[in-house]
Amino acid sequence: MQSLKFIRWHEKQLYLSFAWLLSCLMCGFLFVAIIEFVGINFSGIFSILSVIVLYLLGLAIIELFRRFWIRFSFAQQCASAATCSKCESYGRFEVRVGARPIYARCQKCDHQWVIGQKSK
Ligand SMILES: [Zn+2]
Repeated sequence: MQSLKFIRWHEKQLYLSFAWLLSCLMCGFLFVAIIEFVGINFSGIFSILSVIVLYLLGLAIIELFRRFWIRFSFAQQCASAATCSKCESYGRFEVRVGARPIYARCQKCDHQWVIGQKSK
């Protein structure tokens, strides 16, 4: 599996999460645009189609925002736990892409810890 330095990995997670957020906003604009230009003149098959499209867009908006939020909050959670508790150096370990939780091993003092475990 591919490994990345934590700083690079975190940066990548933020870019990916903002890509989800951006697509969420695009769907939002499309949603508003359809209401604005197709309008609320409910007549015939056209209005049924636009209601279906609006419904699907609404689902897409929720799903895209959910994806953004999961990725973003996980990245932030990892960032706040990325400091080595032994030598205080920040983010000096590698992350295996796609692996959760993250098994961190400090490259300075060899201390090991786990990030992103579901324990609340
Ligand atoms: Zn350390």
